[in-house]
Amino acid sequence: MAWSWLCALALAISQVAAADVILQKDSKTLSVSPHVRILHDPSGQLTIKDLLSAESARTFDRPAALGEVLNLGLTRDVHWVQLLLRLEPGADQYWILDLPFHAISHAEAYLVMTESAGEAAEPVLLPRLGGYRYHAWQVRLPSGRATIYLKVQSSGSLTLPLQLQSEESFLLEEQRHLFMQAMYFGALLILLLYSVAYGWVNRERNYVLFAGFMGFAGMAMFLGNGLTSPWSWLEEVRWRNGVESVGYAIAGAWAMAFTRRFLRPVQPWLDKGLQLVGSLYAMLALAIVWRTVFAGAVSWLEYATPGLSILSGLLIFWALLQAHQRGSQHNRFFELAWVCMTLGALIASLRTLVFLPSGTLLLYAVQIGIGAAAIFFSLAIFMQVHHERNARENALKQSAEDRQKLIEHLQLSEQRLEKTVTTRTQELSDALASEKRMREQYVRFGAMISHEFRNPLGVIETQTALLERELAAGIDRAGKRIGSVRAATQRLALLFEKWLQSDRLNNIRDRLEGTPVMLDAWLQDIVQRCHAYHFNHEIRLLPHSPLGAVKIDEPLMRIALLNLIDNACKYSPAQTEVSVLATIEEGMLCISVSDQGPGIPEPLRLKIFEEYYRVDPDTPVPGVGLGLPFVKKIVDLHGGFVSAGDTADGPGACFTIRIPIQAATV
Ligand code: ADP
Repeated sequence: MAWSWLCALALAISQVAAADVILQKDSKTLSVSPHVRILHDPSGQLTIKDLLSAESARTFDRPAALGEVLNLGLTRDVHWVQLLLRLEPGADQYWILDLPFHAISHAEAYLVMTESAGEAAEPVLLPRLGGYRYHAWQVRLPSGRATIYLKVQSSGSLTLPLQLQSEESFLLEEQRHLFMQAMYFGALLILLLYSVAYGWVNRERNYVLFAGFMGFAGMAMFLGNGLTSPWSWLEEVRWRNGVESVGYAIAGAWAMAFTRRFLRPVQPWLDKGLQLVGSLYAMLALAIVWRTVFAGAVSWLEYATPGLSILSGLLIFWALLQAHQRGSQHNRFFELAWVCMTLGALIASLRTLVFLPSGTLLLYAVQIGIGAAAIFFSLAIFMQVHHERNARENALKQSAEDRQKLIEHLQLSEQRLEKTVTTRTQELSDALASEKRMREQYVRFGAMISHEFRNPLGVIETQTALLERELAAGIDRAGKRIGSVRAATQRLALLFEKWLQSDRLNNIRDRLEGTPVMLDAWLQDIVQRCHAYHFNHEIRLLPHSPLGAVKIDEPLMRIALLNLIDNACKYSPAQTEVSVLATIEEGMLCISVSDQGPGIPEPLRLKIFEEYYRVDPDTPVPGVGLGLPFVKKIVDLHGGFVSAGDTADGPGACFTIRIPIQAATV
């Protein structure tokens, strides 16, 4: 629909073209492109004289065009342009014919006055305006009709944005253009310098690659816009076109490197592909240099540039698609930049191929596209750098936190290790101390036992001597003497038992496994046996309610009780009473041994249970201070406790054993 509308418009314009361009009194700027007619000269041999002959004049024609500006598409052939003018009375005579198109390689203009009666028209070569970046001619128009003939040739495509301007408006227009270009290239230059400096200082290669890409593209554009000095060697079409093409080719190589580095394609083939196309661009640049310097014809070059553009476009498109799936905002900007570039190139191509009209905006499509892309590219890099820096900082922070955690963990482990080592060391030293104590105990126990032996042995010796003497004297007290000897031997047996039990006692770590014992009979038996040995004391088992069977380690408990009875007899005066009382209170078996001796001073009642502690170390009473610790150990092993106290009535000591009852049936 739009297309047919455009065609209709073009047709209408071509019909209008037949009319003259009328220069009126106040005319300042006239776009004359819609009014020109064209003569195609493929041979390039025609001269202005040939044109003025009647046959050639008829061949001028108005080709169909899109929009106001005439676009002849891709052509390097010579074309003649005919422009019919009519100067109205009072209109300015001095005009400038402006042809602001970059690809014009050759142009010359002639003014032909309208024939006076009978005279042949004489063409006048118009002077070209010096120092101007495009082609423009000064025209002094006669009043009435005149024709301008323009011979033009292009180095690629031919578009004719022809304008007739008064000198004043031409200068103003050119100044405006130059100002815009200065703004554009100035901004681009600042962006590039900033990128290079920033990239260099911060070691961000993307900035440098971007600057390379945009730098060469900018240089090519600069040349393409004819902004080099009009007197420089670059003004020659061959050199200007050559350097411009080289600029774009090198920019292509940088663009590939930049895209590779920015998008970091995951697929190796894509990465290699971008690298390869980058190298091909560099080779293309060399080939163009060769062609430009030696003016050699390189036929494949015609196809290399569009071919490479399509190939690189496909690869970049694929890489962008992959990156798009990875997300992230900087990739979006990068995509946008390429969209701008592609759109610019696409519009320019379509315009060149006459699919789009050649308005001012579209004539600058590439420049606008590159400018927008430059902004988006720099935004993309900025965001990527920002993103990467954040990621780096986060990673650093994370690793610092991890390190801190590790340090804390190590410190904790160290503390634990230290604690374990301390505990183990303590345990070891405890074990050593206990080992040492046991050894000492063993030695002292031996000493005590040997000391204790003497007593019963002395009794046996005395009793047998007395028995001998009494037998000699005919006195029969054998029964009494035998009883004493038996008691002494039993005491000896008990000492042996004590000896044997001591080892066992030291090896028992926890509670004992008791055997059921009928307490009443057991107590009676112990007291009974003590009578024979401690005949200087009256040992009494006080009446008590029946106790029944209790689980105890009988041999050990017997030793404990005998120790208490022994001590009671040892430390109390002869002929006094030693009483044994057994009760069961609150689930505990309580056995008390009371005497009528001096008793134990209150502050020493705990001390006496320590090993080798004696209240009076110089006492003639035999002993080594191991009896009570022995009792305590036995009672502890039964899960009970032993205490020393006063008797209920009067002086004397009262030792009480309390052990929890493990009731048992016998
Ligand atoms: P040993 O009797 O061999 O000295 P013990 O460990 O049996 O050792 O007793 C420790 C100390 O307690 C004794 O030296 C003694 O001074 C005191 N002792 C023990 N029993 C009595 C008691 N019934 N009356 C007074 N003092 C006692």
